[in-house]
Amino acid sequence: MFFAVTTPRRRRCSPLLLCAAALIAMRDAPAFTFTDGTTTRCTARGGAVAEIAAPADHPVVVRGRIAITEPAGSGYRIIWNEAQLKTLPPEMHDFIFFHECAHALVPTPDELTANCVGLQIMRAAGRAGFAVEAKLAAFYGPGNEYWRRTVECANAAKERAKPPG
Ligand SMILES: [Zn+2]
Repeated sequence: MFFAVTTPRRRRCSPLLLCAAALIAMRDAPAFTFTDGTTTRCTARGGAVAEIAAPADHPVVVRGRIAITEPAGSGYRIIWNEAQLKTLPPEMHDFIFFHECAHALVPTPDELTANCVGLQIMRAAGRAGFAVEAKLAAFYGPGNEYWRRTVECANAAKERAKPPG
């Protein structure tokens, strides 16, 4: 999912110490945890893409979506609906990270492009392959056109995207 939302009003940093603490907290923004317990970060154009847990009243939660990647400041951020993310099968749980990261990396609002590039990055990171992709295909359902086009696109790419982080 991708849609532009209004950037929240920037808080004033005062006193100075609180401002520094906020910057450190941002740098230590939680990374994404794969099903196997390892963590990663999405980086786009040299900067880490912030990952945030959506509060209960956030549109991503209200609409029952898994995540959105949206412009934030000079880059992007991923907002996770953690309750929904937890319900996904392991392969899909991990793939969705690459999908959301691809939105920021390309950058693109297009879902097929994000899926395609996400799969390329997942393969480059050594986390895809026949067994995993068979599970992803099963998740989308037999003969799913979106997944068929995703694989076709990922296979057609001459250059592989760099893995995040
Ligand atoms: Zn998306």
